[in-house]
Amino acid sequence: MAAPSHRRSLRKRRTLAVSAAVVAAGVGAGVLVMNANADPVDLYHQTLPAKDGWAASGAGTTGGAKADSAHTFTVATRAQLVKALGSASDTTPRIIRIKGTIDADTDDSGKKLTCANYAAGTGYSLSAYLKAYDPATYGRSKLPSGTQEKARAAAQQKQARQIEFKVPANTTIVGVPGTKAGITGGNLQAKSVDNVIIRNLAFSATEDCFPQWDPTDGDQGNWNSQYDAVTLRGATHVWADHNSFTDAPGLDRNDATYYGRQYQIHDGDLDITNGSDLVTVERNRFTDHDKTMLIGSSDTDSTGKLRVSLHHNVWKGVVQRAPLSRIGQIHIYNNVYDTTTVDGYAPLYSINSRARAQVVAQNNFWQVPSGGKVAKLLSGDGTGSIAGSGNLVNGTATDLVAVYNAANSKKIRTTVNWTPTLTAGLESSAKNLPAELATTTGAGVLK
Ligand code: CA
Ligand code: CA
Repeated sequence: MAAPSHRRSLRKRRTLAVSAAVVAAGVGAGVLVMNANADPVDLYHQTLPAKDGWAASGAGTTGGAKADSAHTFTVATRAQLVKALGSASDTTPRIIRIKGTIDADTDDSGKKLTCANYAAGTGYSLSAYLKAYDPATYGRSKLPSGTQEKARAAAQQKQARQIEFKVPANTTIVGVPGTKAGITGGNLQAKSVDNVIIRNLAFSATEDCFPQWDPTDGDQGNWNSQYDAVTLRGATHVWADHNSFTDAPGLDRNDATYYGRQYQIHDGDLDITNGSDLVTVERNRFTDHDKTMLIGSSDTDSTGKLRVSLHHNVWKGVVQRAPLSRIGQIHIYNNVYDTTTVDGYAPLYSINSRARAQVVAQNNFWQVPSGGKVAKLLSGDGTGSIAGSGNLVNGTATDLVAVYNAANSKKIRTTVNWTPTLTAGLESSAKNLPAELATTTGAGVLK
C-alpha cells in the first residue's frame, strides 16, 4: 500500500524540519529574546534550513531573525507597512508580521484609491491615448511618444509611489497565521539587497492602471504592464516560502482589447532579474496568471548569477514562464504542474530554457489533460539546457526534453555545467506530489 509509506516519509521529513529548527534556535539563542524559553523557533524567527536550495549557499538566509523588539512590527494597513519597512538602505534586522490583507490602493487615512486618483492631474485619459497611438494613424514602427505618453508615464509614477513596497536587507516579512495575511494590488520589491525572507503571504490582483502600448513587441504589438506581485532585482539570499499568487479577481479573460490586442494589466508573479542570485522558491502556489516567473530580464542579464532553486511549488492555471529561465544554474525539483486550463488561463508551456540557462528539472509531476501535448511543456531558443530525470506526466516517467526535441528544430541541450548539491527535502519520486502539495503549499498552511 502506498499510503502508509507516504505517511512515514512525511513524518521523517517533519522530524528533519524540527531538527533544523532546533539547531537554528540554538545558534540564535543569544538574540532571540522572545524565545528565551527554548520553544521551537516561531514562524517569525525561522530561517532557511541548511542546504535548502541556492539561498542556503554561503552564510545562508536568515532574514530578520536577529531583530530586536524595536524592529519587530505587526502591521495591518498600507501606511503601517510602509513605516515598518523603513528606509531601503537601513540594514538593521527587522521582522514584519502582516495581519490580514493589506490593500496597496489605500491612502494614509484608509480611503480606497482607484486608477482615476492616479490619473488625476496628469492629463492622461485612455480614450485620448488610444486616439493618439492608433496604429492606423500613428503607425507601428515606433514606441508612443508625446503628450499622452508623457501623461501616461506620469500617472504610472503616481501609482508606483503608492503600490511599490521596498524591502530592506536582513528582513523577514511574514503573514500572521489565521488572518488571511497578504497584499492585494501591491508590488513587493527587493532591490540590490541581501538576506530577505518572504513567507505565508497571499499576493493578489497586482494591476497596472496604465499599460503601455508597444507596437514593436511581436508581430502585432502588445500592451505591457509594469508591476509584479514580487520583484527581485539584484537581490541575493532570498527565501520565498509558502506564498500564494493570483490575478483574481481581475482575471485576464475579462480584459479589454484595444488595437486588436489584450489590454494586459499584469506583469510577473515573482520575477528574479538583474543579477539576482541565490534564491530559493519553495512551497508556493502560482495560479491564474500569464507571465508567471522570469529568471533574468534579458538574454544578457548577468553572468555567474541567477542561481535559483524552485521546489515543491504548485503551478496551476498559469500560461507561461514557470519559469522562463536565462543564464543561471537553476534547479527545479518536486514541483507540480497542472496544465489544465483554469479560469481561462490556457497554458502555452511550463519551463523555458534560453540564453544558455543551465536548468536541472528533476522529479517533477505534470498533470496534462486529455489531448494536451507533452511536446509543448517545454520551450527554448536552442541555447538553453534542461538536464534531470524522474519527471512524470500523469504518473508515467517521461523524458520531456526528448519529446520536445523530436518535435522542434531549436533543440534543448541535455547537459549542464553543474550538479546540484543544496537539495534538502529532495524527494526521489514525484509520484505522491499532487496529493502532498495539495495541502502543504501556499499561504495559510503555516501555523
Ligand atoms: Ca487581467
Ligand atoms: Ca517584471
